[in-house]
Amino acid sequence: MKWRGDRQSTNVEDRTNGRVTQTGGRAVKGGGIFSMIILGLVMLLGGGNLGSVLNMMEPPAQQVSPQTQQLSTERKEFVSVVFGHLEDFWGQEFQREGFRYTQPSMVLYSGRVRTACGSADSSVGPFYCPGDQKVYLDLSFMDELATKYKAKGDFAMAYVVAHEVGHHVQQQLGIADQMNKLRTTLSTKEYNKYQVRMELQADYYAGMWTKYIAGKTHNGQPILEIGDVESALTAANAIGDDTLQRKFQGFVIPDSFTHGTSKQRINWFNRGYQYGDFEHGNTFAATNLDLE
Ligand SMILES: [Zn+2]
Repeated sequence: MKWRGDRQSTNVEDRTNGRVTQTGGRAVKGGGIFSMIILGLVMLLGGGNLGSVLNMMEPPAQQVSPQTQQLSTERKEFVSVVFGHLEDFWGQEFQREGFRYTQPSMVLYSGRVRTACGSADSSVGPFYCPGDQKVYLDLSFMDELATKYKAKGDFAMAYVVAHEVGHHVQQQLGIADQMNKLRTTLSTKEYNKYQVRMELQADYYAGMWTKYIAGKTHNGQPILEIGDVESALTAANAIGDDTLQRKFQGFVIPDSFTHGTSKQRINWFNRGYQYGDFEHGNTFAATNLDLE
């Protein structure tokens, strides 16, 4: 994917150093503002300079090589550009349909993170929290994609981000609320069937966005490069529940599937990529989730 120099979303919070800063140079918000006020007070009362206060408050810096630092900066920029493209696309789609749309934000963290959905660590993988409308991402997942799931190429990560934003689209459409109601009335087994459809729809939405991005150019060249869609498909294939369960348990238990099989994920992503509209993405009405 060609991306260097493209607009980076300003709705990205970088919490990888335990500090809240935003990419794109926007002001810190929420807890950030509060701690800045406290810091300002400490500074005024103590007569010290802000730099030394910051040094006191921060955890000791980890030793990172310049190469690692550069790789991490590059990854942050990449996912911020992807997030920006997703904002453009969904903003425009909702406007066309006459629906209201609130943009999500994305939190980059490392290790552990606190969210409106509780606290989580990076072993859960990238996720979306409807409670605060944020996508949570530990950038080390990009290594996991390449090594554990053999999904090389930056577009595999773009697909993952697009899938999470797909959950935000569902939240905006009221689907997440309906799912919450089902959760209280259905057995886990029955609820999981809906959960699979929810996940496949997020894959469909990732495909919809991919169709849009496939029509875009970067300095006169197509943004998508040869192999990009394949790398998204490899990721979809690798993180299908059946593949994951076979890999980590040695067998598959269909009732506990919550993301759909590899084949289903690939097929719904492809369907979104083919049609690129809301109409063909109703996984809840589909009689055959395999799309055969
Ligand atoms: Zn999902």
